[in-house]
Amino acid sequence: MNRVAEAGIAIGTGALAAAGIAFYGAQIPTAQIYGRTICREPGAGRKLCLTYDDGPNPAWTPDLLDLLDEHDAKATFFLIGKWSEREPELIREVVARGHAIGNHTFTHPTMPAKSDQRIREELDACREAVESAGVTLSEVAGRMLMRPPYGRRRPGTLRVLKEKGYIGVTWSITGYDWRPHTTAQAITRRCLKAGEGDVILLHDGFDQHPAFDRHRSVEATRNLLEHYRPQGYDFVAVPALVAAAGTESRYATSGRVPAGLG
Ligand SMILES: [Zn+2]
Repeated sequence: MNRVAEAGIAIGTGALAAAGIAFYGAQIPTAQIYGRTICREPGAGRKLCLTYDDGPNPAWTPDLLDLLDEHDAKATFFLIGKWSEREPELIREVVARGHAIGNHTFTHPTMPAKSDQRIREELDACREAVESAGVTLSEVAGRMLMRPPYGRRRPGTLRVLKEKGYIGVTWSITGYDWRPHTTAQAITRRCLKAGEGDVILLHDGFDQHPAFDRHRSVEATRNLLEHYRPQGYDFVAVPALVAAAGTESRYATSGRVPAGLG
């Protein structure tokens, strides 16, 4: 092979590696290279976080709240603004029962594809919808909880989050309950990989339909509660998980993003 060809391959490999890193930071929920997010807290001991995205869902969130109460479990709900506007009573109920709530944007866009201004508007509109119900978004280290749709983010996304007073929350375990033909058993099996301090992603709603059928996610939740509670696991909301791990200070100054990467 001649030198020009070798150089070409070397450059190609470097570009692929860079693309791989960019994909990793943008897509993998536990990746921290684009700025810190809350994704798991192994120092928290026998605690687990159930998180539910894309609600509030008038058809399934109430059942989920009753189930969580039965097992003395607290969870965290990442609310879509356009659904929150329709369900102020349900949001108040979520908060009244001791669960945490976070911002999941107003319309559920893929944030890296949107301008900083659009992201600000999405965050503000969701927050307004929640606050007009008379409740406030939960916080860690004085920053409101926010989960980017699909977990997708880039440095600019996290910079806007920080500017608007949010901390990103991703996850360490997913039930893939959004897959159309999955079953409660399959969702449960995936989530049973969870151990101390893991943050589990599930859905009580769907961004395309306000009352989408989430009975599989509720059934999987029942299985998880029945599996982990007898083993001495507590199910806590995200702020309580971070408090148990004693890691608030990490998030107070996090979100630092290298200049020029946005
Ligand atoms: Zn979502």
